[in-house]
Amino acid sequence: MANVSEIFGSMVFNENVMKQRLPKDVYKAMKKTISDGKRLDISIANVVANAMKDWAVEKGATHYTHWFQPMTGITAEKHDSFISPSGDADIIMEFSGKELVQGESDASSFPSGGLRATFEARGYTAWDPTSYAFIKNNTLCIPTAFCSYGGEALDKKTPLLRSMEAINKQAMRVVKLFGNEDVTSVKTTVGPEQEYFLIDKDMYDKRPDLLYTGRTLFGAMPPKGQELDDHYFGTIKSKVKAFMTELNTELWKLGILSKTEHNEVAPAQHELAPIFTTTNIATDHNQITMELMQRIAKKHGMVCLLHEKPFEGINGSGKHNNWSLSTNTGINLLEPGDTPHENAQFITFICAVIKAVDDYQDLLRVSVASAGNDHRLGANEAPPAIISMFLGDELTAILEAFENEEGYDAKEKTMLKIGVHVLPRFAKDTTDRNRTSPFAFTGNKFEFRSLGSTASVSGPNVVLNTAVAESLRQFADELEGAENFNEALNKLIKRTIKKHKRVIFNGNGYGDQWIEEAEKRGLSNFKTTPDCLPCYIAEKSVKLFEEHKIYTATEIHSRYEIKIENYSKVINIEALTMIDMAKRDILPAVASFVKELSQSVIAKKGAVSGIDCTYEEEQIKKISGLMNKMYNETVKLERVLDKVHKIDDLLEQANAYKDSIIPIMEKLRKAADEIELLTERKYWPYPTYGDLLFGVR
Ligand code: ADP
Ligand code: MG
Repeated sequence: MANVSEIFGSMVFNENVMKQRLPKDVYKAMKKTISDGKRLDISIANVVANAMKDWAVEKGATHYTHWFQPMTGITAEKHDSFISPSGDADIIMEFSGKELVQGESDASSFPSGGLRATFEARGYTAWDPTSYAFIKNNTLCIPTAFCSYGGEALDKKTPLLRSMEAINKQAMRVVKLFGNEDVTSVKTTVGPEQEYFLIDKDMYDKRPDLLYTGRTLFGAMPPKGQELDDHYFGTIKSKVKAFMTELNTELWKLGILSKTEHNEVAPAQHELAPIFTTTNIATDHNQITMELMQRIAKKHGMVCLLHEKPFEGINGSGKHNNWSLSTNTGINLLEPGDTPHENAQFITFICAVIKAVDDYQDLLRVSVASAGNDHRLGANEAPPAIISMFLGDELTAILEAFENEEGYDAKEKTMLKIGVHVLPRFAKDTTDRNRTSPFAFTGNKFEFRSLGSTASVSGPNVVLNTAVAESLRQFADELEGAENFNEALNKLIKRTIKKHKRVIFNGNGYGDQWIEEAEKRGLSNFKTTPDCLPCYIAEKSVKLFEEHKIYTATEIHSRYEIKIENYSKVINIEALTMIDMAKRDILPAVASFVKELSQSVIAKKGAVSGIDCTYEEEQIKKISGLMNKMYNETVKLERVLDKVHKIDDLLEQANAYKDSIIPIMEKLRKAADEIELLTERKYWPYPTYGDLLFGVR
């Protein structure tokens, strides 16, 4: 095992490397660029690029790439080698400041949601110096933002950086009101906990559904699922352990703070949690983590499934987004402090988040919506589709005391006044028990738990940062002009709690009672992606994004289109895969089995007159009935798909997939799964759920 402190960050052009390799003035300019977003002078960029190239070549790199995150949700890279001709037959390795700072890329094959129609196909990548360059597969990767010729963001990094800037701006105003003169910036931090499944590669290869869609579209439950709860935190199998060891080593080399690993609830399911970091870096790191998980699993004869719902009847995978705000002086703004003053600030920021989640619950819902995640939200394995917040009894009691202007400590009967009283520190276990809440306060951060496992964490953080920025903007507007700050703050907090407390729910989010209760409270409950997507382009959303300069109206519309098209495309691929599997594998295989049974009946009757063939005959009847059902549903699916393909309106089409296609897919699956349990093992064309879930040994 490698020495962790030696390998950590060894493939990253980080602070230490810059300090060692850059001339003092260049290093200083670079630091300024990183901390204040100041543009680098081209002469300085040349020096940085050259130092990067020398460092990368020493580490074995031959190519460089502008590494970016188009709206596909995965990362993209186009490699260029460093070579440049020199003299007659020689080459030298070159990399200029211009090549570092900006790249040009054909944008026409990336999703643009209509932006392409209006603008040139050319796209540009621009260096994000706040995320360090790194070496992956002998290639120097330069994290970049990706935009169109007209400057529209075509990626997931640009809006994220903009949202971090927006929340920085508004949080700074509030922080200043509390007299923190030494603070110069506020950054959001994220620690995404990543869930995933590992299955045997040979079995994976035999399942077209996994291959084409990332999830199983057929498959009967094995005799054992997750009911014994014997996988959670269980001993890690040696094959999986070997995978985790290699994964950690590679992540550490890239400076990714991989920290915790354990088995999850479902068989074959695992989780990796990194130590939190600045949001845009956490986002980059999560993308790299997902990529490496998939690559390294293959080396160990396994496949890593990142889909939100690989197996029906078994828990799916999510990605908990732990989120907080901290100042450049190291203060976590969501952590209660030791003085009344710090506590006032803490309560103010908590109120800003409560207001944001209530005001923009629809957008938060949209930010986690996808065809894959529709299988989880509200299915009693992940938070409900209703967005609410868990604050824990202690914090809730404190907020209630503010609202009612009474002491939260019943014994002392003291009036709880902001700026006067010290709040208790929250013990972690009083805040982190409720796992059914989509948005939970966990002592010094919030945990947004509705995210799906596959998606980039960029989208949800863009919404969260922007919504909280808007709360903080309103707070700052009101407080900046106040004559008596403490009085104004007390009023503001009281009013905020009164108005937004409907979003606070500390009870069981899985119960039906909550659904009724939430409806009474006026909270939205969007069960599916097509249900919630229109909220994305509602006037209120567009206004929010435009005011904080996160997206232009055009940019939001493009994202709306991409999301909705993506939903329809995913369901379409799933439906086509089912048809293919049913017609070409399952039905023919089962027909062979039925043929064997029938031949057996004939043979038996020929051998012994009047013999009873109940087993075979019953089987043949039952299976044939189900085969006809399967066949009918397949034909129906084909027919309805044809109709749905002809719908022009994107939303109408997505709704048709949801309302007309998915129900047929479910019926088709049900019939097939019943047949599976009646068919002799050797005839079944695919590895079963049992093979897949318990196949890694
Ligand atoms: P769990 O949720 O499993 O109990 P922890 O509370 O230790 O585990 O942390 C979960 C995740 O929250 C980790 O990725 C951790 O780095 C992250 N985290 C902790 N503090 C913060 C913070 N201030 N901002 C963002 N993420 C944080
Ligand atoms: Mg957690």
